[in-house]
Amino acid sequence: MADVVLKNVTKVYEGGTVAVRNADIEVKDKEFLVLVGPSGCGKSTTLRMIAGLEEITEGELYIDNEFVNNVSPKNRNIAMVFQNYALYPHMTVAENMGFGLKLRKYKKAQIKERVNEAAEILGITDLLDRKPKALSGGQRQRVAVGRAIVRHPKVFLFDEPLSNLDAKLRVQMRTEISKLHQKLEATMIYVTHDQTEAMTMGDRIVIMKDGDIHQIDTPLHLYNHPANKFVAGFIGSPAMNFIDGKIIREDGLYFLDEANTVRIKVFNQHEDALAKYIDKEITAGIRPESIHHPSTAKAESMDEIEVTLDVIEPMGNEIFIYFAITGSNCIARIAAIEEPEMGQKMQLYVDAAKMHYFDKETEEAILK
Ligand code: ADP
Repeated sequence: MADVVLKNVTKVYEGGTVAVRNADIEVKDKEFLVLVGPSGCGKSTTLRMIAGLEEITEGELYIDNEFVNNVSPKNRNIAMVFQNYALYPHMTVAENMGFGLKLRKYKKAQIKERVNEAAEILGITDLLDRKPKALSGGQRQRVAVGRAIVRHPKVFLFDEPLSNLDAKLRVQMRTEISKLHQKLEATMIYVTHDQTEAMTMGDRIVIMKDGDIHQIDTPLHLYNHPANKFVAGFIGSPAMNFIDGKIIREDGLYFLDEANTVRIKVFNQHEDALAKYIDKEITAGIRPESIHHPSTAKAESMDEIEVTLDVIEPMGNEIFIYFAITGSNCIARIAAIEEPEMGQKMQLYVDAAKMHYFDKETEEAILK
């Protein structure tokens, strides 16, 4: 297996669209790296450049320490699994899986051995004689993965492989691909627009937007220390709440929203970083789980706010409540202790220790 390194890689399509700008990515050997971001951010283009299906406009690409910008896709020793599976309908599962090897002039016995081995790993041995039309979506997906496995590639590339599956199967296949990664100890690069998929599968995640990389980090570090407002809003569901306001100094530092309805004491350890923002406009970020019902507001760092409930969504074990602060729609997920009603006023507690702050102009995180 191998590492993959992109150095300052840019892709400009004919017509001038800059799909990827100055991408620096180091995928480590045996790592599961996820490229995630909204549609059109350049993740497929990045993957396709690694595969050799798109030319690199500028920059360098190394696979296993070899400079491969000009190496043809078939000589890069990588295998790609696509969203639409791309199975040949007239071939059996075994033939589909072995086809790439046949093209590469492998011997029949060797193809059989590799196909059987891959089928075993994927639990599809009993499907080997079927045609694709006699398979479910999940089974087809496994065959598509099997076709990659038989190649024993240096690197596996996945382009939104689960997006044609229904929600339940997607969750199941997610775990299967993670297990497969462990079993094969392979380098895998996986593209998705789904932040949950990225968070649950990735050793590390690359977050892209409009061709730029915004952050590369582990799932937990991205969640707790987003580098900017875009990452903060993209990772996590329901998404982080953003409230515009300013930092003021009284007997300490406070965050005050624009409508002067919310006043939250800045957490001690955040004071130094925020001192230079006193009286300046700023955006605060609060995750929905950092706003508490009084009964669970135990930490000392919690400050009270009063809100009027717009919408209530009981989830069973917890309740999602929606309210507005300074014109921003906010959401909190609180313990299902009481049954709140729409229009009701409610005291809630914000955990100031869990607040994020962003520069209003650059949108960069102020706390590091
Ligand atoms: P993603 O996979 O994140 O949805 P893509 O990498 O497919 O994004 O596309 C990135 C940008 O490049 C988009 O603006 C898209 O319209 C553009 N693009 C993709 N493929 C081509 C192409 N073959 N020719 C011109 N522009 C393209």
